Amino acid sequence: MKTCIFGGTFDPPHIGHLLIAQTVFESENFERLIFVPANISPAKKNGDSSSPNERSKMLEIALINNPNFEISDLEIKREGISYTIDTIREFVDDLKLDKDELFFLMGSDTLKSFHTWKDPEEILNLCNIIVAIRPGFTPSDIPQWVLDNVRFANIPRFEVSSTNIRRRWREGKTIRYMVTKEVWEYIDEKDLY
Ligand code: ATP
Repeated sequence: MKTCIFGGTFDPPHIGHLLIAQTVFESENFERLIFVPANISPAKKNGDSSSPNERSKMLEIALINNPNFEISDLEIKREGISYTIDTIREFVDDLKLDKDELFFLMGSDTLKSFHTWKDPEEILNLCNIIVAIRPGFTPSDIPQWVLDNVRFANIPRFEVSSTNIRRRWREGKTIRYMVTKEVWEYIDEKDLY
């Protein structure tokens, strides 16, 4: 079953995540796309993220009514720092997926640090990486062996980020259209940021 994994912190999940996921779902003819919220992202270890449960709940309400999308709590259950290689290995073992059926979606900002991740070569052996380009992307920042082994997706480019949304919320600015109405209501109700 052609499967795409989409890992991230999702604090909060926003329209950029949803749109790139939906776009690659269609263009690559995936049969399922699984969002995997990190327990603790190796890149965001300073601990000022919302709790895994809150982020997972926001994803759940952001994905309501989309039968193509699933959420996996595998990184949250594993606890500790969430390394993508451990997640890919678990998917390979549990779902018995060969490389031609397994894809991992990321934004181009994330690709910049990919070569510093745990076991990047092994990740490339086990799955195919699809990259959604974000504004400001410069391929010269990326090692050639990484560029040679990933595929760039043709997606609408616009800059919306969770960091920007959290900042706007703290400044009392609107986040209308950046997150779904339900996610907005959840952030408001929990006074998350
Ligand atoms: P933050 O601002 O907190 O770093 P983020 O908006 O980048 O968050 P993450 O949850 O860290 O969101 O992202 C999950 C994945 O989605 C990453 O691979 C990231 O590059 C990608 N992504 C997020 N926003 C976009 C966007 N607007 N376009 C393309 N890719 C994106």
